[in-house]
Amino acid sequence: AFEVLVIGGGPAGAAAAVYAARKGIRTGVAAERFGGQVLDTMAIENFISVQHTEGPKLATALEQHVKQYDVDVMNLQKAVGLVAPKTPGGLIEVKLENGASLKSRTVILSTGARWRNVNVPGEAEYKNKGVAYCPHCDGPLFKGKRVAVIGGGNSGVEAAIDLAGIVAHVTLIEYDSQLRADAVLQRKLASLPNVTIVTSAMTTEIHGDGAKVNGLSYKDRNHDTAHRVDLEGVFVQIGLVPNTEWLKDSNVALSNRGEIEVDYRGETSMPGVFAAGDATTTPYKQIIIAMGEGAKASLSAFDYLIRLPAE
Ligand code: FAD
Repeated sequence: AFEVLVIGGGPAGAAAAVYAARKGIRTGVAAERFGGQVLDTMAIENFISVQHTEGPKLATALEQHVKQYDVDVMNLQKAVGLVAPKTPGGLIEVKLENGASLKSRTVILSTGARWRNVNVPGEAEYKNKGVAYCPHCDGPLFKGKRVAVIGGGNSGVEAAIDLAGIVAHVTLIEYDSQLRADAVLQRKLASLPNVTIVTSAMTTEIHGDGAKVNGLSYKDRNHDTAHRVDLEGVFVQIGLVPNTEWLKDSNVALSNRGEIEVDYRGETSMPGVFAAGDATTTPYKQIIIAMGEGAKASLSAFDYLIRLPAE
């Protein structure tokens, strides 16, 4: 059995594994895809002290750093269930899709999240070529250009306000007849001179010239008319879904958005189970934050372990 078992091999999981291994305790990492969202990222310019890197390069570095230590890395392993110990302080069980199960004194959940796609022609083709999901990450790439934000909930309206300060013009596209963001955000958005808000609009296609995005088409749902906006970027903001479906039947408390509830130490509602990164209720889903939280969860797990009664 492990003393620390990390589920997920993104920035949070990698940081947790390194911190655990450096305590000299038996550490394992099971990940469906080591590297996580970082593998799908092109330019990364906000990982402090590294001015510019690329996702696949950072993902390789994460894996190399973890493998510097005596960590049992189990890649391509999907967790499907978490079972609480039979007695307090006992072994926690993680069930894998392949039928096997892993046992550990502590478990760190870091299964991350995924952006919801609009699923229109052009979205997949132009991902990282004008189609973006993270305004904090990619906003500056569109300095002085025209962009659209798809989604009028809090994240979409926040993104539009944020981007309006950087880009030339923002078109906010909302499917519903009204925005769903908090009133204070809507007021702020409405006050900005370089933002156009379009409601009752269904995005139908993201256009490009083969190399990069050059437009977006939507259907006006009230009048059934087609429109095209010329622009250079599209930010899809229709939800970040935590990868926590596999925890629904466990005793780990999830928020109404499915995020793992953690306290300031990274503890979940289940003793011995900690969590970090995009899968949790911690706000602002970023690499540097996920890594810090992973380190924190790992140190909390160590604190828990040294307080367990000797067998
Ligand atoms: P993830 O990176 O999502 O990793 C989750 C891990 O868990 C993966 O290994 C996954 O395979 C695994 N997993 C999931 N479910 C299971 C399961 N059931 N069993 C086992 N393993 C499982 N952030 C920045 O700071 N700067 C940027 O420039 C930036 N650009 C981005 C661009 C894109 C296109 C995207 C999608 C995200 C970007 N982000 C950026 C956000 C950043 O990638 C995330 O905040 C960060 O990766 C979160 O780390 P994490 O470890 O919590 O989760």
